[in-house]
Amino acid sequence: TQKEAETGNSEGEEERKTKVTYNIVFVTSESAPYSKTGGLGDVCGSLPIALAAHGHRVMVVSPRYQNGTCSDEIFSGASDLEHPIKVHCFGGVQEVSFFHEYRAGVDWVFVDHPSYHRPGNPYGDGYGAFGDNQFRFTLLCHAACEAPLVLPLGGFTYGEKCLFLVNDWHASLVPVLLAAKYRPHGVYKDARTVLVIHNLAHQGVEPAVTYDNLGLPPEWYGAVEWVFPTWARTHALDTGQAVNLLKGAIVTVDRILTVSKGYAWEVTTPEGGYGLHELLTSRKAVINGITNGIDVSEWDPSSDEHIPFHYSAEDLSGKVQCKIALQKELSLPIRPDCPLIGFIGRLDYQKGIDVIRLATPELMGEDVQLVMLGSGNPEDEEWMRVMESTYRDKFRGWVGFNVPISHRITASCDILLMPSRFEPCGLNQLYAMRYGAVPVVHGTGGLRDTVENFNPYAGGGSGEGTGWTFSPLSKDTMLAALRVAIRTYREHKPSWERLMKRGMEKDYTWDKAALEYEQVFKWAFIDPP
Ligand code: ADP
Repeated sequence: TQKEAETGNSEGEEERKTKVTYNIVFVTSESAPYSKTGGLGDVCGSLPIALAAHGHRVMVVSPRYQNGTCSDEIFSGASDLEHPIKVHCFGGVQEVSFFHEYRAGVDWVFVDHPSYHRPGNPYGDGYGAFGDNQFRFTLLCHAACEAPLVLPLGGFTYGEKCLFLVNDWHASLVPVLLAAKYRPHGVYKDARTVLVIHNLAHQGVEPAVTYDNLGLPPEWYGAVEWVFPTWARTHALDTGQAVNLLKGAIVTVDRILTVSKGYAWEVTTPEGGYGLHELLTSRKAVINGITNGIDVSEWDPSSDEHIPFHYSAEDLSGKVQCKIALQKELSLPIRPDCPLIGFIGRLDYQKGIDVIRLATPELMGEDVQLVMLGSGNPEDEEWMRVMESTYRDKFRGWVGFNVPISHRITASCDILLMPSRFEPCGLNQLYAMRYGAVPVVHGTGGLRDTVENFNPYAGGGSGEGTGWTFSPLSKDTMLAALRVAIRTYREHKPSWERLMKRGMEKDYTWDKAALEYEQVFKWAFIDPP
């Protein structure tokens, strides 16, 4: 390490000897590259590797999807551990088996069950969310609780003294099971649990009658009990009774993390708390925010296998070549000097797609090109198709989920637009900065934490900053920010280049975030609440 080099070895060596390491068990519905629909997949594909590199023993438990979206061959390196277990839930007994691959220092464990084998993404298909998601993720949680006890990975089980890092509602039953089913029998009494909230908008809420399916003792109902406010009830006899799995985790975990500091505060406000703000406020003492890192080997403009030309902060010339190549690929007019604006993301209300829709006619009045990649709401997908035929010379909308194309757009565009209504962390703005694409974002959550506003007039263009944030979210504020960006791009080339380079030189490695995670783990073990 650098420290070793500086101190002539001894201190770094000493630190390593005395460092406390943990057995960490990630539980997640997505882990890239095996499965990914968004940032959750990216985080659970990268953070485990960073923690393993810090000396921890790390296992990631996620479903073995065979759904035709991520290439199913991706699982070909994982072999059947031939250690099936029986799970008691949903009024019966289910057999699940485990597959395993040891890669990049991490034990990737895949829970296998027929309910994970169906076309679509991890949560649904063209007809909407799967009706049995509560069942599918209940199975995942039961299996994840057994995995450290029964799977001899590399010859040894992880054992009871482990740290469960559970992600979003899909994994939220784990801490409740530990508290209700295992600890009363003396099992897992030295384990700790950390909940990571990637998106509070999804909580795993189902009718109260489904409680009996979860495999919890009857007296634990209160942990997941959830009562809808009167206005949200559907008819006069509706008592609003439901179960909420994320709530179950919030009340039973040792520590709570969100994926940025800004979001840690937002979840305690009525606007950002999605009905859970009071509960989260009551647990404020154990909530922290850690900004996500990015996989800097996957996202590196000097070696990215998905882009046609490579470049770096020292030599930017490849970037304009990438732009020309994309313009050719999309049959847009080849205009290296025309500001190219990009958008990548789920076509969803959260991502502010409605604001882009409102602003597009006016934006198309400017001399710009706009390229969008996304899938989600069918109406928005249709809108992209219509825009493409309306503005043949300026607009391209790519409907679908396609990782190589997301890299090519990031490398080619000058400005990356993210008008997210709320954004727990956001990764595209981090990728964009690393690729010299200047982010223009709504100042919310992780976007506000990671994009520093640039004032082109400060200090004769020598001001700091890495992009533009606008607030409140509206068509006009967004257009105003875009216009300042466009003007800077056209009229202040040197300050634009400095702006790009400042973004490219930022440190977004997971290594830094992993150190902060370690602190939280330490805190959970030393000082359980
Ligand atoms: P969220 O998790 O809310 O979807 P993030 O910005 O945290 O948003 O992460 C989104 C991740 O998904 C990024 O890696 C982004 O590049 C990727 N992504 C989103 N939409 C697409 C798409 N249509 N094609 C390829 N990658 C996409």
